[in-house]
Amino acid sequence: MSVESYYFMALEKYTVKTVKSDQSAGTKVNLVGFVHNIRKGKNNVFIMLRDPTGVIQCVSHAGDQSFSTASMVTRESSLEVSGTINKDDRADGGYELKIESIKIYGLAEPFPIKKGQSKVYLFRNRHLWMRGQKVTSVLKIRSTIFESIHEFFVKEHFYEIQSPIFVGSSVEGGSTLFELDYFGKKAFLSQSWQLYAEAEVNSLFRIYTVAPSFRAEKSKTRRHLTEFWHAEAEMAFTDNDELMDVEEKLIKHIVKRVLENNHDDLKRLNRDVSALKNTIDKPFPRLKYEEVIDIAKKNGLELTYTSDLGADEERVITSKMDVPVFATRYPKSLKAFYHKPDPSDPSHVLCNDLLAPEGYGEIIGAGQRIDDKETLLSRLKEEGLNEKDYEWYIDLRRYGSIPHSGFGLGVDRLVMWICKLPHIMYAVPFPRTPRWLMP
Ligand code: ATP
Ligand code: MG
Repeated sequence: MSVESYYFMALEKYTVKTVKSDQSAGTKVNLVGFVHNIRKGKNNVFIMLRDPTGVIQCVSHAGDQSFSTASMVTRESSLEVSGTINKDDRADGGYELKIESIKIYGLAEPFPIKKGQSKVYLFRNRHLWMRGQKVTSVLKIRSTIFESIHEFFVKEHFYEIQSPIFVGSSVEGGSTLFELDYFGKKAFLSQSWQLYAEAEVNSLFRIYTVAPSFRAEKSKTRRHLTEFWHAEAEMAFTDNDELMDVEEKLIKHIVKRVLENNHDDLKRLNRDVSALKNTIDKPFPRLKYEEVIDIAKKNGLELTYTSDLGADEERVITSKMDVPVFATRYPKSLKAFYHKPDPSDPSHVLCNDLLAPEGYGEIIGAGQRIDDKETLLSRLKEEGLNEKDYEWYIDLRRYGSIPHSGFGLGVDRLVMWICKLPHIMYAVPFPRTPRWLMP
């Protein structure tokens, strides 16, 4: 049973979606929701009632017992409406509720959200704007995505485990660390679970977590938040190629679930679903970093075989693609210290980034980890990192080291691509960026 019928059953209420059906015609129902719109005339009041599943027209005629209450109602008031469902082709959606009684939970003051307001205004009023049908559709798709991530990992026999948010050393480099005072000591907010996952994986072999990560991203791009949701996995006795198999399976699973569960939501967002269908049906190409650079060069970018790929480059590279693509084996200098050098070419590392098509770019960062102590020590030194800060992490190579690999999926970026949103802020209930902390 879908959540749409279930949680309203738990409330002993119907949903708009379930009452808009031939079986409901002629039956008496009660609905709860908000007034999406209202038209008041001398003889009729039409209330468009909205819940998370849709909108239905409810009508009260002059002379009905409900008429005086219906006439008082304002846009975005919260109501419970009881009455009979009638099939009526003139009503939007083909069904209408003839109101018998109305209970007003909260009569709304003039609602500040109207058509045509600026994005800045809307985000300032995110707490009210989020009731809107488009935002609700994004949030419903986001819910399916989170649910399907857990579903995938359970099905694939992963253990769920947590890692600390307060940490004492960096994972992804100092420039994006949020520093704070921890009883007189320096601490940071976690950028990734990874270092801890590498200890935990020795206990459980296949692990995952879904948790917030924090990065003080000063650069303003459409894909960076300061607080984002990170679905991370770590696997023992697994190499970079096997890792890509799991990533591909995960993304295919999530997209399949969204197509199954959120047909109406994708439609409301005017999402052309061809790239989503390809994602399920076609294999994801696996390109070496140099091949990716060549694609970018062919599309007019001036890059060399040591250039980093950021949001702008990845937009050009993926804008004509209709399926996610792996970019693999980057030069060592472009990746964090923990990536394992490629034995056949130690100037490169065994890593992969998964780039979403249609211009979206990186949604997963992944790779095989260094499993030998000497290599790790020399990489820490090369990166100017203090060995002392990583003592416990080095221990993992001292006492029975194993080949292992892992990835981090930016869930908000995945929501952004699946919904084809213009900015990552739209993908999050209450986004956090250098500029946005309220609401
Ligand atoms: P970018 O180059 O875009 O900053 P990254 O290489 O720093 O990404 P990783 O460290 O590999 O990213 O993190 C794993 C995943 O987490 C990324 O692929 C992305 O989906 C997500 N992610 C990273 N930073 C952010 C952020 N600031 N906001 C939202 N998602 C992020
Ligand atoms: Mg980054």
